Formats: sequence, structure tokens, C-alpha cells
Amino acid sequence: MAGGPLVHHYVNQLKKILQGRDVRIEFRLRKLQDVEPSLRNIHIQKVEAHGKQFRIHFSDHRILLIHLMMWGSWRIYRKGESWDKPIQQARVIFHTDSHNAVVFSAPVVKLLTPLQLQGDPKWGNLGPDPLRCDFSSKEFFKRLDQQPSREIGDVLLDQQVIAGVGNILRIEILFKSRIHPRRKVGSLSKNEKKEILHWILKLFERWSKEMRRKQTWINIYRKSGRPCPNCGTSIQFFRQAGRITYACPNCQT
Ligand SMILES: [Zn+2]
Repeated sequence: MAGGPLVHHYVNQLKKILQGRDVRIEFRLRKLQDVEPSLRNIHIQKVEAHGKQFRIHFSDHRILLIHLMMWGSWRIYRKGESWDKPIQQARVIFHTDSHNAVVFSAPVVKLLTPLQLQGDPKWGNLGPDPLRCDFSSKEFFKRLDQQPSREIGDVLLDQQVIAGVGNILRIEILFKSRIHPRRKVGSLSKNEKKEILHWILKLFERWSKEMRRKQTWINIYRKSGRPCPNCGTSIQFFRQAGRITYACPNCQT
């Protein structure tokens, strides 16, 4: 699980069976079992992705927020079809007349009102998402410029600056932009920031298109010590924002 394009891909599948339908929701998490009766036969108004979050909007305006982090996944099964994952790993099951949509192993499942979500310091106030129609580059630059003393490789992972960028994307975006992950945001020129946005949009689009094929947009991720595809210099790796990142010390200045 690594980024917004995959979440949007899942959402497109989920919309077909959940959006506009009455569903029964079964929580297999003890902390949410108390609210289960209120979701026994609820209408789903909208299923959407924002960055790496799944947001399922109910007709009573509550929102079920799900984040898969590194471990979670979704499956859609026809009624009666056998599951390829153990039910013990299921966190939430959506029952419709014809299907079960199941989220497995997701560490984050929260039922919130719109106000609670909006005010939540961790899950609310997300930055613009390049795959949503409300994406605004102006908003991205505004949020980016609010972080002048942070390193760009760190800031690209900040979901409140740009939503949906995961570790692989931040590495490849900066490689294509020819900018070293250790550069401070405040040191970037206007053109460098535009170049970063260009590659954000481009790589989100390429990943979305190559969802079921070999992902040809990945150049240097997990290629430490191997030659840079542009210049042949050994790709270096280091830890940044708690994750391993990769860069070409020659191309990325
Ligand atoms: Zn290079």
C-alpha cells in the first residue's frame, strides 16, 4: 500500500457496489461494535478517496474513514464466493444483496461527523489530492511555502501539504524533478517548485494508467548501489522522515 492512485483505484471498484445502495455494515473491531446497530441498514451516499483515505459517506451525514497504512487491503466478493483471506483479518464487512466488500487488516477505522473530521489534526485538513477534481495547484504551492525550513523529501510525505504521495512517489517525483530530497523547501526556486508539481501530476497519472501492468514509472526506488538510468552514478539511499529514500547524488542537486 503506497499511494493515492491505488486508493482511487479501489474506490472506483467500491463505488460500483456501494454507492447509492442500502447496506448492512458489520464491524469486526470491538471499539466500533457499539455503533453497529445504527448502521444495520444504512444508505451510502458517496464513496470517495482523499489522498490515502477512504471516506464512506452515509445518509445520516456520518463518515466512515478508513486508512490501510502499509498492511490493509480491500476485497470484493460475490455473495457465496469463498474468501481468499481469513475472516479473522477482516475489520469491516459491507453486506449488499449481491456482494460483500471487506476491508482487511486496516489499522485505522473511524466513524466521524463532518465537524469531527474537519477539526481532526491528523485526519482532517488534508492537502489537495492530484486525482480529485477539486485539486488546486495554488493551494499546493501555498501549503508548500508554509514549510520553508523542512526538507522537500519530508514535506512531500506530509498529507496536509499534498494528499496521496507515499514513499515510492516522493522518491520518483524528486528524481524526475532533479531535486535532492534533502533540499529545504525555502531554497527551491519558483521553477523548481513548478517542476515538482509537474512530476507529481505526471506520476499520479502514470501510476493510475499502469495499475494492472508493469509499473514503468519507477526508476530508482529500491535500487541503491545500481547505476542511475540518466548518468550511471550509483544510487544512494538514506533515512528521511522515518522511511528509506533513494536519490542520484549527481542528477539531484
Ligand atoms: Zn544520475
